[in-house]
Amino acid sequence: MDKKELSKAIEILRKRYNVKIRREKPFEILVHGILSTRTKDTTTFPAQKRLLRAAGTPYKLALMKDKEIEKLIYPVGFYKTKAKLLKRSCAMLIDDFGGKVPSDKKDLMKLPGVGHKVAALVLVWAFGLPYIPVDTHVNRVSKRWGVVGEREKPERTEEILESMLPDRLKIIANHTLVMFGRDICKPVRPMCYRCPVYSYCAYKKKEYYRRIESGKLL
Ligand code: SF4
Repeated sequence: MDKKELSKAIEILRKRYNVKIRREKPFEILVHGILSTRTKDTTTFPAQKRLLRAAGTPYKLALMKDKEIEKLIYPVGFYKTKAKLLKRSCAMLIDDFGGKVPSDKKDLMKLPGVGHKVAALVLVWAFGLPYIPVDTHVNRVSKRWGVVGEREKPERTEEILESMLPDRLKIIANHTLVMFGRDICKPVRPMCYRCPVYSYCAYKKKEYYRRIESGKLL
């Protein structure tokens, strides 16, 4: 898939899912990002709500005991580690950034618990900047499309996608591909028979899945 085809495919999917980005509060997105690592949204969102209700600012959260945070965020994955990361991040926000979440990727990645994906999430959803958080859906679809190699790591996928897409599409790429990855291009048995970007995709097994599902095989 070349640059033009990639943009076209994302446009088609953006329209299908009517993707729009609404700006959220930076601290809330940061907390969400740290909690979301290796945890499903259905667990992350309620935990984020409980925690932010109890401590909606870095100052309040930094003063909480680890055990209190753990109790509020359980059952997110690695909740004990994440409780510590959240407190250390809040301490750094207060000490180094005047209590505010920075809008620079390098600065964000200095915060404990913040890697490429979480930093990009904050930049897109809190600051409306053109970055592409690469999660499991974005990485899988990019591989199937042939945009990146089979063994590519998410950080490299992020670099490649960001070099190929215009800013207006970078900003909606994650949300669009997450929706597409959950709805049609699923991890197991992608629904190629009803794929709106079938003609752009390089996935070797796509014809196999299309024929199975449309009853032409088996
Ligand atoms: S053709 Fe199949 S593998 Fe390719 S993008 Fe569509 S659903 Fe995914």
